[in-house]
Amino acid sequence: MDIESLLSDWDGETVVTRYDRPTSAWVFIAIHSTRLGPAGGGTRMKPYPDLEGALRDALSLAAAMTYKFAVPGIPRGGKAVIHIPADLDPQSRPALLRRYGSLVRQLGGLFYTGPDVGTSSEDMDVIAETGAPYVFGRTVAAGGAGDSGPITALGVFAGLQVVCEFLYGDPSLEGRRVLIQGVGHVGGTLVGYLRAAGAEVSFNDINDAAIQHFRDDLGLQFVPSDSVYETDCDIFAPCALGGVLNPNTIPRLKCRAVAGGANNQLSSPEDGERLRARGILYAPDYVINVGGAMAIPGMEVLGWSRAQAEKEVVESVRKALRRLFEVATAEGIATEAAARRIAEEHLRSGI
Ligand code: NAD
Repeated sequence: MDIESLLSDWDGETVVTRYDRPTSAWVFIAIHSTRLGPAGGGTRMKPYPDLEGALRDALSLAAAMTYKFAVPGIPRGGKAVIHIPADLDPQSRPALLRRYGSLVRQLGGLFYTGPDVGTSSEDMDVIAETGAPYVFGRTVAAGGAGDSGPITALGVFAGLQVVCEFLYGDPSLEGRRVLIQGVGHVGGTLVGYLRAAGAEVSFNDINDAAIQHFRDDLGLQFVPSDSVYETDCDIFAPCALGGVLNPNTIPRLKCRAVAGGANNQLSSPEDGERLRARGILYAPDYVINVGGAMAIPGMEVLGWSRAQAEKEVVESVRKALRRLFEVATAEGIATEAAARRIAEEHLRSGI
C-alpha cells in the first residue's frame, strides 16, 4: 500500500508531517479524533524500515489512542512517530527533540505528548524546553510525574487479576503461569507484581542485558523467541511489540488468555475473533494498558497524588474489563469487538 492510500483509507482527522532536514528524520503526528478533546499520545522514536512503515504505525497507534481514552471516558483522543535514520548521531538528538517540541507547541494544544518506545522522561524534559505546556511525563526532578511504565504495569496487573477472576472464579495469581514477552519498562515492572502475587513467571526478550538480569539475577525461566508462541502457560502477556497476535501465531498459542501491555497486539480486528474461536480470553490492549495515559496527566494536571493515580488506574481497568467481558460473553462476540463498541458509544455520546 502506498502513502496516498494509507492516508485516504484512514478514518482519522489530521496528520501533521515534518521533514527534519538537519537529521533527515521524519515526524508524523497523527490526530485520529478530537471528538472527546484534544489529541494525546506518546512520541515513538525509532528507525523504521521505510517511511510508509512509520506512517502506518502512527496512523494505527493514533486510532488505538482514541479507543484507549474513549473506554474510560477520558476527554482526549493521537500519536507521534519520529522515523530516525538508523545511524542518527546521538549528539544531534537533543536539537531534533527541541525542534520537535517547537512543532508540538505550534499546534497550540491540539496535541499533547509523552514518552513511548524510544523516548524517555529525560527526552520529555528536552522536548518541554520548546514544547511546554503540551508535554507530559517529564522527570520528577523537572517537575513531571516521571516514567509511565510502572503505573501502566500496575494497570496491566489489575487486568490480569480480572482475567483470573473470569477464568477461574478467583482473582489470585498464585501459582498461575504467566509468560511475558518483553521485560522493559512495562513488562519488567509487571514481573515484580506477579512474583509478589505468587505467580510462576517466565519471559522472552531479545536484549542481552535484559535476559541476563531476569534469567541470571532473578532466576526466571527464559523462553527463546522461536518458541514463545508455542509455550504452554496460563496467560501470555505481550509487553514488547505490536502485531504479535495474527493468523500465523494465534493457532500456535497454548494459553488460556492473552493480557499484556503492548500497543496494537492484534494485526487486524479479525484476530480478536480468531482468539475467541480458539477459546482464548483476550484482554484488549488499549483497555488494560491505559495506566500511563491516565495517570501521568492526572498527576501533572489534576494534582492527583501517586496513590490516588494508582487507585484510579486499578479501578478503571477493573471496571472496564469486567464490563466488556460480560458484554462479550452475553452476546457471544469477541472481547475486542465489545471494547470497540463501548468506545464507540462513548465517542458518539461525547462522554
Ligand atoms: P521498552 O522499550 O522499555 O521495553 C520493551 C522490551 O521489549 C525491551 O526489553 C525490548 O528488548 C523487548 N523487545 C523488543 N523487541 C522484542 C522482540 N521482538 N521480542 C521480544 N522482546 C522484544 O518499552 P515499554 O515502555 O515497556 O513498552 C512496551 C510496550 O507497551 C510497547 O508496545 C508500548 O507501546 C506499550 N505501552 C507502554 C506504555 C508505557 O507507559 N511505557 C503504555 C502503554 C503501552
